[in-house]
Amino acid sequence: MIYKTDYHIHTTYSDGREGPEACIAAALKYGLSEIGFSDHLTPAGGQLKWTMGHDRLPEYAEHILRLKKLHPEIAVRMGLELDYLPGMEKVTAGIIDAFPFDYIIGSVHYLGDETVDLGPEFYKGKDIIEIYENYFNLVCEAASTGFYDIMGHADLVRIHRFRPEEDITHLYSMMASAFEIHDVAFELNTNGRNKPLHDFYPDRKYLSLFAEHGVPVCVNSDAHYPERIGQYSDEAYELLKLSGYTEMAVFKDRERYMIPLV
Ligand SMILES: [Zn+2]
Ligand SMILES: [Zn+2]
Repeated sequence: MIYKTDYHIHTTYSDGREGPEACIAAALKYGLSEIGFSDHLTPAGGQLKWTMGHDRLPEYAEHILRLKKLHPEIAVRMGLELDYLPGMEKVTAGIIDAFPFDYIIGSVHYLGDETVDLGPEFYKGKDIIEIYENYFNLVCEAASTGFYDIMGHADLVRIHRFRPEEDITHLYSMMASAFEIHDVAFELNTNGRNKPLHDFYPDRKYLSLFAEHGVPVCVNSDAHYPERIGQYSDEAYELLKLSGYTEMAVFKDRERYMIPLV
């Protein structure tokens, strides 16, 4: 049986539908070897609906750490999906240092003041290649900060199916190089299948590029419902193997270990 992990899971601490207990039950049922919680946090704080307030972090950490002890039958990991916001480095570092995380997922949701994923309106009437260039540049900049262990949904700008007409291979090359140089992993995020995109992030066409650069990878569901934990993972692991991957990354105490993809 393949060793399966899922490090990208949302609970009611952010915009997930159920609490961590229901997620663990679903992960056990699915047969995961490791489950990692990664509720949303943005360094800007505030009372946005989809993200946890900074004041809830101690409770979140205490809760997940308690579940680690309660569930020796599955490896429970504590992470965060932390937004990259340029200029907020001090706050970001403070959050990461304050709790014993196993890994941090670095995600770009914002370009300027707007999020790229909430609706197609963001893209209408805009230069699509410019959006892609800005987004890829920001993800590469995020990778360079050293804050993150896993880069989240690295080409999220595909979500609403707006594609530049130009060839964008160079953007993926730039990204794979940046991840390699800054020694960060990325995720094959299967949740794009549930979105208008109907496919995984990043674009399967370019996965071999990441493999050639030796960028470590893991498969994540980005589940907001327990029943989606581990979703499409069989297909995702197969896809990684077809793209040239022979190993996957696992995380504990912010250390990365590689295990064979079998
Ligand atoms: Zn995200
Ligand atoms: Zn997420």
